[in-house]
Amino acid sequence: MKLFTYIMLILVLTSCSQESKNKSSTENLADPFLDDHSYSNLKEIKTRHLHLDLDINFESKKIYGVARHRMINLNKADTAIFDIKGLEIQKVTTGERNTEIEADFVIGKYDKDSILGQPLLVKINVDDSIINIYYKTTEYSEALDWLDPSLTSSKIHPFLYTQGQAILTRTWIPIQDSPSNRITYSADVKVPAKLRAVMSAKNDKKRNPTGLYHFEMNKSIPCYLIALAVGDLAYSSLSENTGFFCEPELSSRCKSEFIDLPKMLAVAEKIYGKYQWEQYDLLILPYSFPFGGMENPMLTFVNPTIITGDRSLISVVAHELAHSWSGNLVSNKSWNDFWINEGFTVYFEHRIMEELYGKEISDILALVEIYELDDELRRIKESKHPEDSKLLLNLKYRNPDEGVTDIAYVKGSWLLKSLEAEVGRKNFDLFLTNYFSTYKFSTISTEEFIKYLNKNLLNGSKSSINVDEWINKEGLPTNKVEIVSERLNVMRNLAESFGAGKDVFAPKITYRKEKVKGKVRKRKIIEQLKKEDFITQEWQMFIRYLPGTITVDKLELLDKYFSFNNTQNAEIALDWFSLCIKSGYDEILPYVERFLKKVGRRKFVLPIYELLNEQSKYKNFAKSVFSSQKLFYHAVTRNSVEKLLQN
Ligand SMILES: [Zn+2]
Repeated sequence: MKLFTYIMLILVLTSCSQESKNKSSTENLADPFLDDHSYSNLKEIKTRHLHLDLDINFESKKIYGVARHRMINLNKADTAIFDIKGLEIQKVTTGERNTEIEADFVIGKYDKDSILGQPLLVKINVDDSIINIYYKTTEYSEALDWLDPSLTSSKIHPFLYTQGQAILTRTWIPIQDSPSNRITYSADVKVPAKLRAVMSAKNDKKRNPTGLYHFEMNKSIPCYLIALAVGDLAYSSLSENTGFFCEPELSSRCKSEFIDLPKMLAVAEKIYGKYQWEQYDLLILPYSFPFGGMENPMLTFVNPTIITGDRSLISVVAHELAHSWSGNLVSNKSWNDFWINEGFTVYFEHRIMEELYGKEISDILALVEIYELDDELRRIKESKHPEDSKLLLNLKYRNPDEGVTDIAYVKGSWLLKSLEAEVGRKNFDLFLTNYFSTYKFSTISTEEFIKYLNKNLLNGSKSSINVDEWINKEGLPTNKVEIVSERLNVMRNLAESFGAGKDVFAPKITYRKEKVKGKVRKRKIIEQLKKEDFITQEWQMFIRYLPGTITVDKLELLDKYFSFNNTQNAEIALDWFSLCIKSGYDEILPYVERFLKKVGRRKFVLPIYELLNEQSKYKNFAKSVFSSQKLFYHAVTRNSVEKLLQN
């Protein structure tokens, strides 16, 4: 049976019209295809190269686009199926520009929970290899964050950025939106003349006063890595092939924060082989960006919360850079295999940090994350989906964002650390170098990885690491490498003493006898621990090691010493605010409000709303801050908080 007819049978379709957001079920539609989270018939026909013509309109907050797909018909398909969500499809044609012929298309209904969006089916002749989809984005295009000037640093120009992972690319481009679909792309983008467009592709270092920009990404990437940002952006170079884009007033702060970037790239290449993407730049986004960083190839998007002035959160950049190998070069085949992207990346990030700043630092980073993993494991165990603590997930009929937990990141990296400890670093590095080179520019499933691991590293030898237990069992296996940090033990002792009532931060006054001009004098010596004596992660752990709730006077004393209420470091702020909220310290609310109104990164925002929502006295406060800030947050953050506050 031809696919088109098959689809017609299982779908109620409306011909050539935009279907309303009807909650009729087409959820089984994804079954016959490659990916639980895409309608596209990739086994039949797939895009090889995508060209985008995009007109970015800030007044209407819409993108007017044409997605020109050059396709390979693998199985004489008479239909090409694309994913769309929140898009208005105007017409579809086949053929080269200027000789295009209109094609019939139908749009299916939304799936049950509107997670996947809608299938767009285009009727084609077997010989058609170019399909052009004319469309515009809508207010439901969730990948897009249109920011008014007030939400930027300059407060003068508006800003736009996209966030495609996991399945949001379909909300701004009609596409076969599966991570297994690797394509090359090019784009012609028109923006207001005063602004500059940048993409996850080769970027011009100079502005074009006409507002027209051309991009080429001639290495194949999964669709979720197509990314665009438009704003008043200046470029600063850090080395021949590294640099950053940011709003001009942030340039000097960024330069000092990211000065180690060239060194980082050199170190990463030393560990796992040549960087394959030519240029590595950062783009510093406004505060509403929902993630710490997004590894868009050639142009990592980063959250300004990592600019602390002391480079203490630079591991985020090491993480995104590591993705140039794990995730971008070798990508997870489906979102169920997400740990293949993130576990490897965290492992590699720690290796970069170790090489640059020493093992003590990378161990501290690992332990901060392991502490968070413990919390996550508890949460998952009590949730509706205790099976989410397996590395290999089953996210069918669920939003793949639900798989973005510490399991993929921390449990995943811990498996790799344990394997390294088992076989030795030299063998493990050789194995991973070969893995990246064998699978470069392709995708891999967990099952394929296990086969590769058994064949190339474990070789049937009796390993004490039970890989199957890590992958397919809930919780954390007992056989894993242990990580210890003396520096964090010091923080634990300080926290325990302080929690028990000892003011360990009070100045200690001692007197020392000294001979001055033949006379013995007593010199007063004041010793006191200062904030600068410890790095961000040590302070985070100090706060976490304090009792779960502590008295207001102790919180006030800590604030007196270290000004935690006013901290500009978002990592410390999250731990500090969490402790204060749990302890019922009402005076913290104005600081929390200011933070929630400035920062949109989900990692920080969601847990704070969660804690506020758990306490009856703070529930209304949480709701009122969210309702005033809703539009400032990107959809990724907004949807998560909205869901939380509805419950
Ligand atoms: Zn990552």
